[in-house]
Amino acid sequence: MGDHTRIAVAPAVQLGGSLFTPEQLMKIGRVAEPDAMIEMTNFRQIYIEIAENDMRTIEEELQQSGLEVYPAGFVSKSLIACQFCRGAEEAGLDTARALNEVIAGIETPAPLKIGYAGCALGTSEPLLKDIGVVKMRDTFDIYVGGDPKGIKPKFASKLMTGLSANQLIPVVSALIYFYKEHAKPKEKFSKFVDRISLEELRQAAA
Ligand code: SF4
Repeated sequence: MGDHTRIAVAPAVQLGGSLFTPEQLMKIGRVAEPDAMIEMTNFRQIYIEIAENDMRTIEEELQQSGLEVYPAGFVSKSLIACQFCRGAEEAGLDTARALNEVIAGIETPAPLKIGYAGCALGTSEPLLKDIGVVKMRDTFDIYVGGDPKGIKPKFASKLMTGLSANQLIPVVSALIYFYKEHAKPKEKFSKFVDRISLEELRQAAA
């Protein structure tokens, strides 16, 4: 028997939120090793154990069924987006999809979670994520440093406000790469934000 590896699978960023079709769930069951652990994470990805040798073929098969496949572990996770209940345009579905394409799967010093909410109701809890994006009518606000874990959870702090859709993606990317370059090994993003300061982060993202 060959080696196993873990991959992360997620449905597309879409109206209705994290929805799977029955066919997609069956596909996940079929590609997993017979005794595999299939884990539902708390960041809207499913982790599957698969045979390392078949990785490429399995990824293609999953993608053909409309699923997205990402690396597991110390990377930026796919976007934890809301359900876009206000409609694709008002809640910014296209922008969220474009953001997801750029940010998901970048190797980082510790796992990084990025939340997206299509309005200030924030039902995807963006202020409890490492980086939170909130659409406010026609512009976007960015929050950083949320951490829901432990007995002293922390809300993210507002970093930037009034960004256009075109400004948003380069700014979030710059934050991720700045973290990647300047964090200590395994340093959580919330600790990094505390150490570096909001002002320095603003300069890095500008
Ligand atoms: S954040 Fe706003 S747009 Fe998104 S699902 Fe919640 S209420 Fe709807």
